[in-house]
Amino acid sequence: MRNVPFFDYSKIYMQDRVLIMEALEKIGTSGAYIMQKELVEFEAKLATFVNSEFALGVANATDGLELAYLALGIGKGDEVIFSSHTMTATASAIYMSGGVPVPVDIGDDGLISPESIELAITPKTVGISPTHLNGRVCDMDSIIKIAEKHGLFIVEDAAQAIGAKFKGRSAGTFGVASCISFYPAKILGCLGDGGGLLTQSESFYQVIRELRDHGKNQNGHVMRWGRNSRLDNFQAAYMNQKILQLHENIDRRREIASTYQRLLGHVEELHLPSPPAEVGDRFDVFQNYEIQAQNREELRMHLTRRGIGTHIQWGGIPVHKMQNLGFDLILPKVEDFFQNCLMLPMNCFLDNKDIFWIAKCILEFYGYSTKSLT
Ligand SMILES: *Cc1c(COP(=O)(O)O)cnc(C)c1O
Repeated sequence: MRNVPFFDYSKIYMQDRVLIMEALEKIGTSGAYIMQKELVEFEAKLATFVNSEFALGVANATDGLELAYLALGIGKGDEVIFSSHTMTATASAIYMSGGVPVPVDIGDDGLISPESIELAITPKTVGISPTHLNGRVCDMDSIIKIAEKHGLFIVEDAAQAIGAKFKGRSAGTFGVASCISFYPAKILGCLGDGGGLLTQSESFYQVIRELRDHGKNQNGHVMRWGRNSRLDNFQAAYMNQKILQLHENIDRRREIASTYQRLLGHVEELHLPSPPAEVGDRFDVFQNYEIQAQNREELRMHLTRRGIGTHIQWGGIPVHKMQNLGFDLILPKVEDFFQNCLMLPMNCFLDNKDIFWIAKCILEFYGYSTKSLT
């Protein structure tokens, strides 16, 4: 028996106590809580990390999406297409800014399917919001082609995908704007809520920088209606240190994914995500390790009894099936997917013994030999 929680939030503090205390001391003694130089420094580091023209700190990733839609000026009846296998935030940002979220189906990899995007386009469609789910970038060649053909904007939900790449280009740098989440369990997590907004357009950057701070420009003049969606300076100070370990942390996630693949790749009852590749179009960062498993519920119970935490994304319900949101359509692939999807632990607190233990328990459950593990 070995206790492996799905994600242990208290470990963030235990591991980073010194960093956290140093950041707190610095911010506290200088009284620099909001919109100070640590934020500016973090925005520069974030932009550099993902090779984006511009980056802004915002209160959370959901706000980042909403600010993008406000800046785009989407209005009543404007339809934005998104994948139903995503967090409700992808859709609510469209809805809360006055647009109409249009859910579509997924492909075999769980990401938005370009074919279903094309089928969902109507005269009212204004944009596409692909989610780079689990730290893997969508098929951006196809999506950009569709967007160009129909004159649509792209707003990427890159909340889960900091550092992920498609053909050498980072998640979040394909569209007019995108968001990244710093929720504690995300790849670059802070100590509460936090988000990043990326854009490649200077005019967009200027508008959103004002929108997130009551419409004020750098001289404090109110240039437009705005709101309050700022990233705390303390969180920025903490992440200025954390971001230095980000390459290493992403490598570790990819190593864990390779280990899962090596130990479980032969299990016929499982469908595993694509393993990390050294060559090819994609560089995946494995925010999550989402598998599909036969007898999922029994497997989950088996793992729980052995101390292993698992998780079913979005409470096991794709967005278009959330009863109170008013959708009424059938998306067969995503509905199938949710019958058997399951996330195994994937984070930098895991050591190799944890991964071996998880693999051993899964092999046992399906009746495979565990000899090679000992
Ligand atoms: C976490 C997440 C969000 C929301 O991020 P917040 O920073 O909590 O607002 C949005 N979309 C996806 C796909 C996410 O995983």
